[in-house]
Order: sequence, then structure tokens, then C-alpha cells
Amino acid sequence: MQIRRGVTRSVLLIGNLAIKFPSLRHGQRYFIYGMLGNVLESSHWKQCNHHNLAPVYHCGPFGLWLVMKRYRTILERSLTADELATLPFIGIDNNGANVAVEDGRLILVDYGNVGWYYIAEENRSESLATQAQEDTAPALPESVKIADLVYKITYVDNASEVDIHRRQSLWGQIDYWTRTIRVYKAERDHADVMQTVWHEVVHGICDKFHIDVSEGDLGSQEKPLDLLATAINLVLQDNPGLRNF
Ligand SMILES: [Zn+2]
Repeated sequence: MQIRRGVTRSVLLIGNLAIKFPSLRHGQRYFIYGMLGNVLESSHWKQCNHHNLAPVYHCGPFGLWLVMKRYRTILERSLTADELATLPFIGIDNNGANVAVEDGRLILVDYGNVGWYYIAEENRSESLATQAQEDTAPALPESVKIADLVYKITYVDNASEVDIHRRQSLWGQIDYWTRTIRVYKAERDHADVMQTVWHEVVHGICDKFHIDVSEGDLGSQEKPLDLLATAINLVLQDNPGLRNF
């Protein structure tokens, strides 16, 4: 008998069975995710009964346990894009531990994750393309360190939520007291959002190094500041390699 521990579920391996239990190790929230994982895995199996899925034999009430066929030949590497396309789900946790091989066939042994959904064949390539796009969209920074100060950066979908005092709609705002930068994101391009991030970062630099700029509107001092932010952003957008140095 062996035990494998995941974040939301633990798996007991006995003979030809894998029995999954929600795990309490990370608190009740993850325990509930584990229950949900069992329930979803069971319903995915009932709906799809797909030859690339490990069969679920039984799911206990509220997903308190789930009995699945055990596979001993785990692939132990991430799947390629072509291999992913053969599976009935998109968005699988491609961590090299969730797929087994049997008779040359890939078998998903963990498909209870909440974000998964079944994709009908005709929509598959489109969904995969969307996912590939999402995967390659560059990430946005969550914090920035300016000298000794670390500012947390949050992104909001409503321009009226940018202003910490909710007095006006803004593209971005830096608050020196709470060390936060808030940026209006919604459907804006990555480069466009980064322009605003850089604008606020330059404000942060000016504040730290006592470079006097008037704040709040694009007045005479604000213009060179914004031009500098634009220039920095343009150079970094045009030279992605520079961001790694
Ligand atoms: Zn400004």
C-alpha cells in the first residue's frame, strides 16, 4: 500500500485501485476542493467515458472518497502540444505526474480539477488555440521594488476603482502611503497596460528620489514623466530580451 499526497487530495494505492480522499493538510478550503475534485472526476467519467481517462469505479457521497483504476506506468514528463490535443480536456495540470501510459495510449489519472471542462470535438481546435494564446500572453507584474520600497500592483477592470478615494476614473494611480499601484486593465493590450504601470513606476521613482513633479493631471511636469514612461515601455516592448537582464 502506498500513499501519494497532492494539494487537495491524497491517494491510497492498493492493488489495482487508487482511492482518493480530500486532504485536510492545507485546511478546510482545500479539503472542499478535494471533495469537489472527486465529484467532478466522477461526473466527467460518467459524461465522457473516454478511452484516455482512467475509469472511475465509485464515488462516495459529497466526494468524500473516489475509487479509480490504478495505473503503474506514470509518464513522468509533461505532454507535448500534440499529445495534449488528443485528450478530451483542455487545461489539464500538465505537471508530468497525471498521465499514465497503457498499450501506447495516454491515460489521464487526475482530471478532477475544477477548471476543466469537456470540449465537444468540433470546438476543440478553437479552444486549444484560445488556450495557447492565453498561455503565451505575457504576465503582468504583481509588485515592483523601487529602491527600498516594494509597491504591490493590482489590476482592476473598472476605471472608477483605480482611485483609492473613488473620486475619479483613472488609468493608473500610485499611493505612496499604502505602497500600492492600481491599474485599469479590462480589455487593454499588454503593452498598453504596461505603459500605465511604467507611468506609475516613474512617479514612484520621482517620489523616492525627490524629483518634483506635479501629480494628478498631465500638467507641465507630468508630460516629461509620461514621455519617459512611454520611452521605457517602448524600448522594453521592442526588445523583449532586455527584460531578462
Ligand atoms: Zn501621473
